[in-house]
Amino acid sequence: MEAGPKVTRLEVTELEYEIKNMGTDYNGFNLVYEKGSTAKRRMAVLQIYTDQGIVGETVTSSVELSTAPIWAGYLIGKNTLERERLYSDVKRALRQVARIGVSAMDNALWDIAGKYYNSPIWRLLGGHIRPLPAYASTTHGDENGGLDSPEAYAEFAVQCKEMGYPCFKIHGWGGGRVDREIATIAAVRKAVGPGMALLIDPACELNTWGDTWTVGRACDDARFFWLEDPYKDGGISQFGHRKLRQLIRTPILQTEHVRSLEPHVDFAIAEATDFMRGDVNYDGVTGVMKLAHACEGLGIDIELHGGGPLQRHLMTSIRNTNFYEMALVHPRNEGTFAPIYKDYRDGLDVIDENGCVYAPEGPGAGVELDWEFIRKNRTGGVVYE
Ligand SMILES: [Mg+2]
Repeated sequence: MEAGPKVTRLEVTELEYEIKNMGTDYNGFNLVYEKGSTAKRRMAVLQIYTDQGIVGETVTSSVELSTAPIWAGYLIGKNTLERERLYSDVKRALRQVARIGVSAMDNALWDIAGKYYNSPIWRLLGGHIRPLPAYASTTHGDENGGLDSPEAYAEFAVQCKEMGYPCFKIHGWGGGRVDREIATIAAVRKAVGPGMALLIDPACELNTWGDTWTVGRACDDARFFWLEDPYKDGGISQFGHRKLRQLIRTPILQTEHVRSLEPHVDFAIAEATDFMRGDVNYDGVTGVMKLAHACEGLGIDIELHGGGPLQRHLMTSIRNTNFYEMALVHPRNEGTFAPIYKDYRDGLDVIDENGCVYAPEGPGAGVELDWEFIRKNRTGGVVYE
């Protein structure tokens, strides 16, 4: 039996690029609309070279690749098709650094596997091409004439509904002002009517559990589909979210900020979330599929964080999931998607008339990186061999 491609070399490329008409809000963390400003964003590409000429590529962050010095040496010479073993070994090796980095390795290995078998990742996972219903996931609220009032959100939600989106998600304002959050929940529901699924993600900006309970009751009144990561525990308190679930009717979505399979499952078993979050940039294709099957065993759904080719491969391969996150969109700028691929993009207008997107069909991740763009914006890099 053939051994499969072996790792010969790893290359990390870091880049920084600008997004037009974007700034940041009160503490510099949230990207918000700001006409005439440019915001800087950083990302990184990992390439895993093999002795058969196949190169696995994945887009990630410098943070994920900060642990590469720990695992790059281990990976050299390994059979790239033995993902389960490699994932388990590296997960263990990274146990004291929150398992940061295992996803980047794993996602590049899946790209290699797909290219080796001349098959998209979703086919290796047993998926089938189908429409993936998307939600318009807004940037945070601003004070700059964009999403700057409950009425502005309502107007944008109606625009998205008319474009075909079956679902809309509010990322509210930074700073945790509860009254404006509640007014937005009510205004959006009133504007779109009863048919559209609505979500709200305060992104852990609400200051107290009490604020969270108050916003949760507003979600109940407006029949929201989920309330996500509401308050400043940072999305990790099992006890706090279990208490919240006991007092509101709206389903909650937690575990975006929990890494690895076991803590996710513990969260569900503690009855601290309704929907499970899975993030391919934290846990990799391997980790998210394990989580999807764990959720299936518990009879609950997994919702994938963020948009991108790998999220589409995964969603196409999972039954128990509802919506694709078209992130982060805004009525007056291009949103936050990085133009890093030649043949793939996300953005407000990417959906079909039914509000759906589809997985790429080429081998591996099924996308071609735009190396001209990457080299032009390169800020550094490192080679391991
Ligand atoms: Mg979120």
